[in-house]
Amino acid sequence: MDFSVSPKMQTIIGMINEFVDKELIPLEAEFISHDFRDMLPVLKEKQAMVKKMELWAPNFPQDVGGMGLSLLEHGLVSEALGRSPLGHYVFWCQAPDAGNVELLHMFGTPEQKEQYLRPLVEGKIRSCFSMTEVDMPGSNPVMMETTAVKDGDDYVINGHKWYTTAADGSDFAIVMAVTNPDAPTYLQASMIIVPTNTPGFNLVRNIPVMGHEGSDYASHGEILYQSCRVPQKNLLGPEGHGFVLAQERLGPGRIHHCMRWLGICKRSFDLMCARANFRVIRPDGATLGSTQIVRQWIADSAAEIEAARLLVLKAAWEIDNVGAKDARDHISMIKYLVANTMNNVIDRALQVHGGLGMTDDTVLAYFYRHERAARIYDGADEVHKMSLAKRILKTYEGKIVK
Ligand SMILES: Cc1cc2nc3c(=O)[nH]c(=O)nc-3n(C[C@H](O)[C@H](O)[C@H](O)COP(=O)(O)OP(=O)(O)OC[C@H]3O[C@@H](n4cnc5c(N)ncnc54)[C@H](O)[C@@H]3O)c2cc1C
Repeated sequence: MDFSVSPKMQTIIGMINEFVDKELIPLEAEFISHDFRDMLPVLKEKQAMVKKMELWAPNFPQDVGGMGLSLLEHGLVSEALGRSPLGHYVFWCQAPDAGNVELLHMFGTPEQKEQYLRPLVEGKIRSCFSMTEVDMPGSNPVMMETTAVKDGDDYVINGHKWYTTAADGSDFAIVMAVTNPDAPTYLQASMIIVPTNTPGFNLVRNIPVMGHEGSDYASHGEILYQSCRVPQKNLLGPEGHGFVLAQERLGPGRIHHCMRWLGICKRSFDLMCARANFRVIRPDGATLGSTQIVRQWIADSAAEIEAARLLVLKAAWEIDNVGAKDARDHISMIKYLVANTMNNVIDRALQVHGGLGMTDDTVLAYFYRHERAARIYDGADEVHKMSLAKRILKTYEGKIVK
């Protein structure tokens, strides 16, 4: 296993770090305190700069206009971009579009690719992914109430979804709906492309999350599908294979999320260490960093980040080399390990900043509010732990250990 970074990737990461420091971090105060939609003009300017640097859409396939980086390579990019909450959006590798690009690239018809995939990769349109329901457990999504019933050449969709991230301002949604209620459980639902201007696609509200409704890309929508009619040619992949496709979407996406979270760890850690050295807490000039407890937080954070990072790189290497199925255990582990490492590091960094940490004068309070969700979306901690432990226990069945 070789995690050395090639000269090409070292150059790319260097360029990204410089761009994040110079162009994005200075925009964060406005981003945190303003409506995201108001920032679109300046963000478009930054996106044009990224295109000129030929770093646009780093993880998207080359045949549709992306850079075509490997999973491991994009992991490093994701880490560098994760240092700022604006990074992924400006370089156009943000969730949920990234997952939708993968789905359309793997399973889209030539017509769907032309209509949705190409403009999505070019950044001309945005998309969202609509699976979780208000009244059903997202942790067990096969319990789904949304239906898509055939009527003539169309599907008619009815259902109540929420947490459709970035629905506000999206051009289309990929919607999970039950099309084959009599099939075996995992073959009942399908993915269907629904343009958001279709009558019956009703964005009820942007859900307030930790006190903020957000807008446009930075929002989470509640959507009522009411007799929402789309042509059957909008089916993505085979009918009834929605969960099979969803699995494909989660493997590489997990690495991207985890590396983004490690970028957040890095930024929070940098802020924590700088503050620990700077803040004088006694008349003799002693700083926060001279206290035993802050040193312990710094040492623990450094070790936890490094350990988490190595496990993510190992999982990415395994996906690239032996396939996602054999990497399953490590893919589960990194989800809860990195989400919790990140939450611990943000919390310590905020604590070191005292009252300042609670303000929006640093990015820490934003991270604290928005990244708590990492322990819930993409499979809650407990769900991953339960299924991993079940698999581990299976390997011990009938074994006597002395
Ligand atoms: C910020 C954010 C963005 C999101 N973006 C999207 C999106 O773009 N598209 C989309 O479709 N969805 C999205 N989601 C939804 C997300 O996928 C669900 O919230 C998640 O799957 C959990 O489902 P739930 O909220 O219904 O919780 P539930 O399924 O009700 O679970 C609640 C809690 O119960 C516990 N639990 C559940 N099952 C088990 C079990 N088997 N064993 C032990 N404990 C268990 C866990 O602690 C869990 O946190 C997003 C969520 C958040 C917070």
